[in-house]
Amino acid sequence: AAKDAGRGVYRFYADAMHNQASERKAIEDALRDALAKDELKLLYQPIVNVGSERISGFEALIRWQQGGDAVISPSKFIPIAEESNLIVPIGEWIIRTACATIARLGQEYRVAVNVSPRQFANEKLPATILSAVAAAGIRPDQLELEITEGVFLDESPENLEMFQRLKRTGVRLALDDFGTGYSALGYLKKAPFDKIKIDQSFVLGAADPSSMNAAIISSIVGLATALKMETTAEGVETHDDLALIRGLGCSHVQGYIYGKPMTVEEVLALLADGNGKAVAQGYKSAR
Ligand code: C2E
Ligand code: MG
Ligand code: MG
Ligand code: MG
Repeated sequence: AAKDAGRGVYRFYADAMHNQASERKAIEDALRDALAKDELKLLYQPIVNVGSERISGFEALIRWQQGGDAVISPSKFIPIAEESNLIVPIGEWIIRTACATIARLGQEYRVAVNVSPRQFANEKLPATILSAVAAAGIRPDQLELEITEGVFLDESPENLEMFQRLKRTGVRLALDDFGTGYSALGYLKKAPFDKIKIDQSFVLGAADPSSMNAAIISSIVGLATALKMETTAEGVETHDDLALIRGLGCSHVQGYIYGKPMTVEEVLALLADGNGKAVAQGYKSAR
């Protein structure tokens, strides 16, 4: 009986794995057509300078509007785009679209795009960037690339050389989700970053006096300041979070308190309305 039960369990896992594999395959197939069908969209979330309380730029965040209404989150399809290498054409579309948006926003704003490991490893990335920047007629430093620790898993000379090649194009580099990976400190020595983005897991509930998050944020800010890098605290939702982040000396904040990811039209309306002066709305968190 025990043997039978064991076989049943095995079967269960085999089926589950099969279902997972076919779901991935289905997503991959649909993703292949998504660009041609115009189903991918970029939304833009404000990044605010803490000192001036003005919007300094936006992070471009991708959405997949499949069919009519269902919106698929990037956490679901970006890993599949990575594994299938579809991230290369999709990533090129992201860079071109973001540069076109920068041209519409004007000289004083920047847009950051997320670059995933396979895209980073693509030899043609610097050429793609230079061509997109030229086509849009923007300054290269108006484009920022957000890079996660995933790219450091490949320690080949080509990979490390890519940082220098990207830097030479004139774009800015930001280290995304700082603090979540192993040995994150080592990365700072290896690459010419302009900014550290402090992961939202340190920001969530940082205002709670029993949490160690404030001490961690404070030491990241100290490190960034010594290295002449900016810091953006991600995931700032409440007035308490904002007051704490301001007190700890972060140069920039991003989070629902200043705005959720929005369409270009909404961004243009926001900038026209307040001249880029950011208004903290506060946000009732579900957590
Ligand atoms: P990320 O780059 O760390 O982006 C920040 C995520 O935090 C976004 O989720 C954003 O909507 C969310 N967020 C911003 N403010 C708040 C807040 O106040 N509270 C909370 N709870 N969340 C907040 P999103 O858009 O679902 O993106 C998730 C991840 O997917 C991104 O993390 C990034 O790693 C990846 N991703 C998104 N767009 C792209 C893209 O165009 N290319 C690539 N390669 N990856 C992307
Ligand atoms: Mg990011
Ligand atoms: Mg992040
Ligand atoms: Mg993140």
